[in-house]
Amino acid sequence: MAYQTINPYNNQVLKQFENASDEQLEATLTTGHALYKQWRGEPAETRKATLHKVAALLRAQKHDLAVIVTKEMGKLIAESEAEVDLCADIADYFADHATEFLQPTPLTTALGDAHYEKQALGILVMVEPWNFPYYQIMRVFAPNFMIGNPLLLKHASNTPSSAEAFVKLVEEAGAPKGSLTNLFISYDQVSKAIADPRVAGVALTGSERGGASVAQEAGANLKKSTLELGGNDPFIVLDDADMDKVKAWAPQSRLSNAGQICAASKRFIVMADKYQQVLDILKDSFAAVKMGDPLDPTTTLAPLSSMKARDTLQKRVDAAVAAGAKVYYGNQPVDLPGAFFQPTILTDVTKDNPSYNQELFGPVATVYKVDTEEEAIALANDSSYGLGSAIFSEDDAHAKAVASQIETGMTFINRAWASVPELPFGGVKNSGYGRELYKLGFDAFVNEHLVVSA
Ligand code: NDP
Repeated sequence: MAYQTINPYNNQVLKQFENASDEQLEATLTTGHALYKQWRGEPAETRKATLHKVAALLRAQKHDLAVIVTKEMGKLIAESEAEVDLCADIADYFADHATEFLQPTPLTTALGDAHYEKQALGILVMVEPWNFPYYQIMRVFAPNFMIGNPLLLKHASNTPSSAEAFVKLVEEAGAPKGSLTNLFISYDQVSKAIADPRVAGVALTGSERGGASVAQEAGANLKKSTLELGGNDPFIVLDDADMDKVKAWAPQSRLSNAGQICAASKRFIVMADKYQQVLDILKDSFAAVKMGDPLDPTTTLAPLSSMKARDTLQKRVDAAVAAGAKVYYGNQPVDLPGAFFQPTILTDVTKDNPSYNQELFGPVATVYKVDTEEEAIALANDSSYGLGSAIFSEDDAHAKAVASQIETGMTFINRAWASVPELPFGGVKNSGYGRELYKLGFDAFVNEHLVVSA
């Protein structure tokens, strides 16, 4: 069975799930399409209370929902609870702003009165990963529920319990059948759904390989797609950085969610006279982590999401070392049964090293020393990824000038990455295309319908 809940803390198989049949897929598309037609005749306002109810239920059931995530993909219980809170905030945000976002936009033309209005497109397929099992669903669900696009969810094969819990909660809030349907489907069934004329588009968050494959299906069927893929984000420490701020942000920007965040800082690019200080900051905090049961609130570093994820990371680190990278700290086996990986610092990664342009999805930091700011910018941009970046400098105007030279979708100055409902999230290059959250995420799947009256 492809869909399984396996606790990565102890490798216990907790639950297995049957794959969905083609008949279930067909029934979901029929229900979703009927709902799309019904919703076209109803203003978004009518769905507002339900989405607020989703938020309220998330807050009320926070701990139980968090335990499901922690047992399924291993993150610290406090991180799982924070994820549930963020989901509630996203639900409230789109419930509160949808009416404003849907206002017709007047246009000036010699042809007469003109405006465009935003309309729903139809059923969307969403393909989501395991690293934030609820948040990844909510980013697509909340705006599209308000717009009136029903959703078919294909979640990661290692987070089926989270998918079920989320959908159950949405139903409990009173959302009509078909608003959000989770199906344990195969890649072939995902392709089949994308090709179906009742489906208008697909949103995927995940790997480049998965993204390319799903986007190819979308392209072949002339469907719109958005992709939120990996990242190899630079954390740039300039000459005038406040090292207390670097200390406050650098370790957590690499270690939170056990390092499994697309927009986590992964490459620390440091001016020469700050290089040793950054190595010390990272080493001290990496050495101080307490690995253990992620349900125990005193644990500070969780296991990775699966043994497979751990083995993939180990292979990448081994290949980096074989190609000349030096292990400044870590990379020792962890004497625990689960998918643990010791926090690791790599230096001396040269351009010909495989890890130079590879996402290390776990608690591994690569630290680079540079002599000039131009070198820092060039190194930051010498990546096939372009998701986020962080810059540390006490001169705000200077930091902003550097930010505008960085080829990423997001830059954070004097802090690490963040995701909040009111700010757009997404990248360029192989990190994908399209934005989620804020108004830009809301507009990802709407028909901007032009109306001209002579
Ligand atoms: P995948 O891309 O394999 O998985 C993400 C989702 O896509 C899962 O639901 C997966 O299903 C599905 N999927 C993958 N390929 C296809 C396909 N051809 N057709 C339909 N669905 C597909 O990512 P991984 O879980 O393997 O993670 C590996 C890498 O992905 C990480 O190292 C990281 O680079 C990136 N990643 C990025 C994330 C982000 O937030 N941007 C989050 C997680 C991973 P299934 O689970 O059944 O294979």
